[in-house]
Amino acid sequence: MNDLLTPPAADGSVDLLRIVIAPSAILKTKCRAVGAGDDDAVRALIPRMFATMYKAPGIGLAAPQVGENLRLIVVDVGPEDKRQPYALINPEVVAASDETSTREEGCLSLPNQFADITRPSVVKVRYVDQAGARREVDADGLLATCLQHEIDHLNGILFVDHLSMLKRNMIMRRLVKEQREKRDGGR
Ligand SMILES: [Zn+2]
Repeated sequence: MNDLLTPPAADGSVDLLRIVIAPSAILKTKCRAVGAGDDDAVRALIPRMFATMYKAPGIGLAAPQVGENLRLIVVDVGPEDKRQPYALINPEVVAASDETSTREEGCLSLPNQFADITRPSVVKVRYVDQAGARREVDADGLLATCLQHEIDHLNGILFVDHLSMLKRNMIMRRLVKEQREKRDGGR
């Protein structure tokens, strides 16, 4: 991918967005495609999503995670001193390898929860970049996992939805309990 973006300044000049924590209806929603009328909203949203993701910190963020019903994701799997920011509009997985990889995944919408998830090792993702150009990326490794995780969000799917109901319920119960304890100030 060569549509490298300039990461937003870390000086607080970009307003951060509030990250939606599961369970929440917006996280279960199949998001609508970004259309021509969404240009201004998307242009305003992208730097704020990057800033929110870096601050968290995380390596990917999908629009529904900040309460926006739009098919838009930002990802950056690069190290902190060598950012590789990508914004993908209307991304879709158009090809996936038979070979799979298992990685431990987490999610900014499920703080402190992690699980091993198996997904195709290599994927081809088609998307529209910020300039409106149609692009394709062949991703492997962490980027492939991250893209699939974020695109899942646009279809109302969380990483725990790839687990057995037993494991998923265990994680969701733990999350709700931890969030309640946090809200109650650890009482
Ligand atoms: Zn996530």
